[in-house]
Amino acid sequence: ASAVEIRKVNKYYGPFHALKDVDLSIPPGKVTCLIGPSGSGKSTLLRCINFLEEYDSGEIRIDGQLIGYEAPGRKMSGRKLREMRRSIGMVFQQFNLWPHMTAKENVAEGLIRVRGLSKAEAETRAAEALAKVGLADKMGNHPARLSGGQQQRVAIARAIAMEPRLMLFDEPTSALDPELVGEVLNVMKTLAQEGMTMVVVTHEMGFAAHVADQVAFMEKGELVGVDSPGRILHHP
Ligand code: ADP
Ligand code: ADP
Repeated sequence: ASAVEIRKVNKYYGPFHALKDVDLSIPPGKVTCLIGPSGSGKSTLLRCINFLEEYDSGEIRIDGQLIGYEAPGRKMSGRKLREMRRSIGMVFQQFNLWPHMTAKENVAEGLIRVRGLSKAEAETRAAEALAKVGLADKMGNHPARLSGGQQQRVAIARAIAMEPRLMLFDEPTSALDPELVGEVLNVMKTLAQEGMTMVVVTHEMGFAAHVADQVAFMEKGELVGVDSPGRILHHP
């Protein structure tokens, strides 16, 4: 499990100041939920953690290592960035599965291409990851023959099969029908109980209140508070 230190991070989209001096410590083995109104910068902050978005100043360190830059203002090589990103799993609102591949092939693909495993090894590990998210009996299904909740669980399996030290979730249940939200949150809760370091952008207040170890509130690009989840329901 990994820890992330975010120090005085600023991000601009042209003239628009999207992140304003954001400071946040993400403890290892814990769940941090990012909460706040739409447009407050949650997704931008999450994407800065794996440098899918470039931040303009400040520092983000993962286990002490600066991501995106060799030193302030000096970018890291693409190769080094890809290497760092390999240990960071990301799950998006959209599942982004390959439609022509089965669930098992979707999970195995990254293990073959990025990790260089043989097809047989990759498929063994894919099967384990799919069993863990409760899809042992759906491994041969193509995405079109899976529900949204099952597709998102395949996407989670794809990420955890890579054995990340950190998982980032960007509104993982927002595209789902309400009755399918719980099965995805339960898989995330299991991961949390196993000690995965997780950062979760979500509107699911129940999940934040019951599963998060800390809840960070964002407003207009600023991090306006970090609370224990017990207080979440009382926040204005
Ligand atoms: P949240 O995740 O809290 O809804 P975002 O991080 O997606 O917020 O967006 C924060 C602000 O930055 C919004 O006002 C949004 O319009 C703006 N923004 C996000 N991405 C871009 C972009 N690629 N170009 C310009 N503005 C953007
Ligand atoms: P709210 O009243 O804000 O809607 P709920 O407590 O009803 O919050 O839960 C919202 C979501 O969070 C639900 O989809 C539920 O599955 C999930 N959830 C709530 N409590 C837990 C829990 N203890 N573990 C995992 N998921 C939970």
